[in-house]
Amino acid sequence: MQNQPHVVVVGSINMDLVVRCPSLPKPGETILAEDVQELPGGKGANQAVAASRMGGAVSMVGRVGDDAFGSELLKHLRDQGVEISHVRVSSDKASGLAVVSVDDKGENSILVVPGANAFVSEEDVWASKELIQNADVLLVQLEIPVETVVAAVKIANQGGVRVVLDPAPSIGLLPEELKQVDLICPNVPEAEAILNCRIFDRASAESAATKLHERGFSKTVITLGENGALYTQEGSSVHAKGFEVAAVDTTAAGDAFAGTLAVQWYGQKDLGQAVAFANAAGALTAGRLGAQTAMPDAEEVRAIQMDGVLRNGWS
Ligand code: ADP
Repeated sequence: MQNQPHVVVVGSINMDLVVRCPSLPKPGETILAEDVQELPGGKGANQAVAASRMGGAVSMVGRVGDDAFGSELLKHLRDQGVEISHVRVSSDKASGLAVVSVDDKGENSILVVPGANAFVSEEDVWASKELIQNADVLLVQLEIPVETVVAAVKIANQGGVRVVLDPAPSIGLLPEELKQVDLICPNVPEAEAILNCRIFDRASAESAATKLHERGFSKTVITLGENGALYTQEGSSVHAKGFEVAAVDTTAAGDAFAGTLAVQWYGQKDLGQAVAFANAAGALTAGRLGAQTAMPDAEEVRAIQMDGVLRNGWS
């Protein structure tokens, strides 16, 4: 259905312990934090919630542990309209956990304990073959074993299902099989790691986008933080400006971007419109504390697109 694509997310589900502190601790340093909050996160679950808020019909494939965090995470996904019948509960594993430190400037540092996410298996995705092949879009990240992601992409390809890959967190060179995705959306450090290059200005970002294309990725969107994103269209690179916001916590800005892009690009010829929408979702998320709790809905995104100020100055 064009207006409400069915998006299947195969990925991670974590509880984020978000600690607010005046500055991020350096090695050996002890800092007194201001407070701590338990917030549902994980790149897969974040992107599932982002896609759901944008109006997608979303199903999640993944694993949580048989513990209190696991039950809370499942309940939260359900409450967010995400269908969870393909999320398994691992009886002998803990739910994934991330300790996120956020300083007064909105910078963050993150420690992830994968727990049950490390056990999302190829068998799990083959068991979800029908779900994936009946979807409109498969959305994947790299916070579960890469072999599992490769299997999910293969299943989607066999069924002619569009695939969006957010290659996060960075694992360096990507397996050849992942070139079969329809769109890859790395941030700057991820694009640098995939290509073993440096991105520091517009020319180097354009060259990275071209190289990704030459390496076999058919469509590329490189996210540029406050500067928006660069995408490839008919062989050339186009810059979509970011929105001016006061950054509070940039955690999950990329997840909001990817989840929004997966929904908005479906049924549209013009990738540019979807990227502009995703930039707005990323900016709104960067302006709020938390991951899933910070994700905007489609109405908020439309409002900032009408009234928001685009950031100038990136070249
Ligand atoms: P990640 O969160 O994966 O590190 P980015 O930092 O590139 O990725 O952010 C993803 C998207 O979120 C950007 O392309 C942009 O649209 C939006 N965004 C992120 N940070 C800001 C910010 N400070 N101001 C405005 N938009 C932002």
